[in-house]
Amino acid sequence: MDKRCGITQKDLMDIFYQEKQLNNEIKTHIKTCKGCSEYFESLHSIKKEMSILEFDQENNSLEIINKAFVIAELQEKRKKEKIEFSLFVLVALIIISIVISSAISGYGNVVFLLQVASLSLSPIIVPLMFIKKLRKESD
Ligand SMILES: [Zn+2]
Repeated sequence: MDKRCGITQKDLMDIFYQEKQLNNEIKTHIKTCKGCSEYFESLHSIKKEMSILEFDQENNSLEIINKAFVIAELQEKRKKEKIEFSLFVLVALIIISIVISSAISGYGNVVFLLQVASLSLSPIIVPLMFIKKLRKESD
C-alpha cells in the first residue's frame, strides 16, 4: 500500500462519515487501484448493513412507543375505574348511614316506603343502565 492509497482510504473514511464529498481524484484512484476499490466496497457494504440496522431500530422504537401508549392508557383506565369504585362505595356508605340513622330516629316507615319505591323502579332502571353500558362499550 503506497502513500496515495493511505490518503485515499483516509478520505474514503471521511466520505463514509459524510465529512467529505467523493471527488474525481478519489474516483480515478479507486478505479485504478484494486486495494482501494475493495476498501471502498467494504465501506459500502457496512453502510448498507448499518442502514438495515437503523431501519430495524426505528421499527422497534415505534413498537416500544406504541406499547408504552397502550400501557399508559390501561393504567389511566384502571385509575379511572378505581376512582369510580371508591365513589360508588362512598355514595353507598352515605346512603346506608342516612337510611340507618333515619330508621333509628323514627322514620322507619318513610325508609320502608322509599325502599319499596326504588325496588319498583328497578325493572325500569336496570335495563336502561344495561343499554347505557352496552353503548359505552361499543364506542
Ligand atoms: Zn489505492
